[in-house]
Amino acid sequence: MADDLFNSFMMGPDEQGRFGNFGGRFVSETLMPLILDLEAQYKYAKTDDSFWDEMKDLWENYVGRPSPLYYADRLTKHLGGAKVYLKRDELNHTGAHKINNVLGQIILARRMGKNRIIAETGAGQHGVATATVCAKFGLQCIVYMGVHDVERQAPNVFRMKLLGAEVIPVTSGRGTLKDAMNDALRDWVTNVHDTFYCIGTVAGPHPYPAMVRDFQAIIGQETKSQMLEKEGRLPDTLIAAIGGGSNAMGLFFPFLDDKDVNIIGVEAGGKGVNSKMEHCASLTGGRPGVLHGNRTYLLQDDDGQILEGSSISAGLDYPGIGPEHAWLHEIGRAKYVSITDVEALEAFQLSCELEGIIPALEPSHALAHVMKIAPTLPTEHLICMNMCGRGDKDIFTVAAALGVEVNTGA
Ligand SMILES: *Cc1c(COP(=O)(O)O)cnc(C)c1O
Repeated sequence: MADDLFNSFMMGPDEQGRFGNFGGRFVSETLMPLILDLEAQYKYAKTDDSFWDEMKDLWENYVGRPSPLYYADRLTKHLGGAKVYLKRDELNHTGAHKINNVLGQIILARRMGKNRIIAETGAGQHGVATATVCAKFGLQCIVYMGVHDVERQAPNVFRMKLLGAEVIPVTSGRGTLKDAMNDALRDWVTNVHDTFYCIGTVAGPHPYPAMVRDFQAIIGQETKSQMLEKEGRLPDTLIAAIGGGSNAMGLFFPFLDDKDVNIIGVEAGGKGVNSKMEHCASLTGGRPGVLHGNRTYLLQDDDGQILEGSSISAGLDYPGIGPEHAWLHEIGRAKYVSITDVEALEAFQLSCELEGIIPALEPSHALAHVMKIAPTLPTEHLICMNMCGRGDKDIFTVAAALGVEVNTGA
């Protein structure tokens, strides 16, 4: 089916920004000129060597790329099956993959002469990455964050303030990520002339899903050459956690045409996908609709009202999923599964105890799926999982879930 659309899985999206029936550009007329301008600038930058030279320099010297591809030997022995590699994107500056993409968008913003940067954030990781890069370049930074998240994520709010950003608590809706993104889009329309909207995942209107994917694809490109160097061949299975889907798209994209590579995305199953929407598994438990400028799978009720998801991991708490994942799911190129809070917590602890790596709760979901399948696979099977963030931000959530009291020093 895919071959009817594109000669290659890596050719999407089409001119309208569509991946099959997904994606596109559902925006108001006022936003249209901005979006077209951004698309033109990005198209130009994509083939401009000086743009990528600047990215490469910052990735190396500011972010700390390439991130290692690490053979998790004790975890592998413990699981007793497939050989497990971890792509260590948690070692990046600011502790996750988000900064790979932020750098690309900020360099673009500077080239477009925009010096006011706005962003949305849920758990605060994208807000912190954006505030960081704005500080580095001396740009004004405004971060929209739901009031509910401002309360839950106080340390990240303070980090953003230290970095010079203004954090605007969003009170509309239920005061979470979806509402923050709505307000950021409203700000953009009002402040067209000097403002650049830096989106944190592979969502939003075209060209964002493709652009963010292209900036995150460094993860998969590095993985490919590192695996060839270490094992002399490609991995058999790739696994990554999915909130909006940017770290996963970054790992998957360079492998889409390597048809022998299995690709698995892991959604947040919360209290279980059969629980009454107390999960964030958009592909498993949602259906297609339009949100934030694109058509994709969404958690919604019978009337099409967007539902709030629920997950122990704030970073996976988004009611939608990037349109390219919706497409990969429909054509069957990638498989999507879900992992519950309880399973993710177990994986979190196992990584700490066996590998000395405190993972973020988001990749703990991916690891939980590795734990399920590795024992069933032969020892020569190569799994590569994206360890996309570190867990410092999550230790109090984990303590509460485990019923452990921790003195915060406050
Ligand atoms: C933000 C975040 C996610 C979710 O975003 P994606 O776009 O799905 O990658 C996952 N893991 C970590 C560590 C994050 O900070």
